[in-house]
Amino acid sequence: MATIADNERRERRRARRATPFHAITPFTLLDFPGRSACILWVAGCNMRCGYCHNPDIVLGKGTLREHDALAFLRRRQGLLDGVVLSGGEATTWPDLGDFAGQVKAMGFAVKLDTNGLRPDVVAQMLDRRLIDHVALDYKAPPERFRAVTGTVAFPRFARTLDLLCGQDRVTYEVRTTVHDALLDEGDILAIATDLARRGYRGRLAVQQAVVENDRPLLGSLPPQSRRLDRQWLAAQTNLGLEFR
Ligand code: SF4
Repeated sequence: MATIADNERRERRRARRATPFHAITPFTLLDFPGRSACILWVAGCNMRCGYCHNPDIVLGKGTLREHDALAFLRRRQGLLDGVVLSGGEATTWPDLGDFAGQVKAMGFAVKLDTNGLRPDVVAQMLDRRLIDHVALDYKAPPERFRAVTGTVAFPRFARTLDLLCGQDRVTYEVRTTVHDALLDEGDILAIATDLARRGYRGRLAVQQAVVENDRPLLGSLPPQSRRLDRQWLAAQTNLGLEFR
């Protein structure tokens, strides 16, 4: 028999399908390499990172319908090159693949921002040639994965990483967000070593978590007290590190 919690979960899923998007950023030159683009923010996420500064997107039901997003894109045809599917976690939206197909048919290039927990969705989108570029978040090494993301799904993330490393049809980048209460230089080194071992030849973008006094985070983390020792890190690995 379905419990009240089951019913509430089903209701939340139904609501999210009706209004999958939290918001649209109409223009960016920074988020899709080499392209002018907009960002569609898909509501909902399958992680709970303490430093997440988008709790409204992660926990919200969304406010915009698919129809609204497509109408916006029609008005931008010929004006923008690309569409970034971000979130939240876009791959948690069951209709993402079909939606990306419509976006591609309108002539836009598609970039997917993902935390990698849905290798099945990424594989299908690659097979159907629905993406042109992927930004993959490497959240933490296995032993720190739960503390950073609230999940124990590192093996699923690793499948997405291997999937991307094993193909050359789409370009991709890997990035890690650092809050000094969660990750240190040793963790970044472990990530860089793992990436090199799996055949990743790009650069690892390392970005400091954004913590602002007036902006709530998903978790309760103290203010950051120090920055990573960049010089030490760069000397320890052959993988290119890009500090942002
Ligand atoms: S930072 Fe973490 S919780 Fe926030 S949207 Fe990204 S993956 Fe989800």
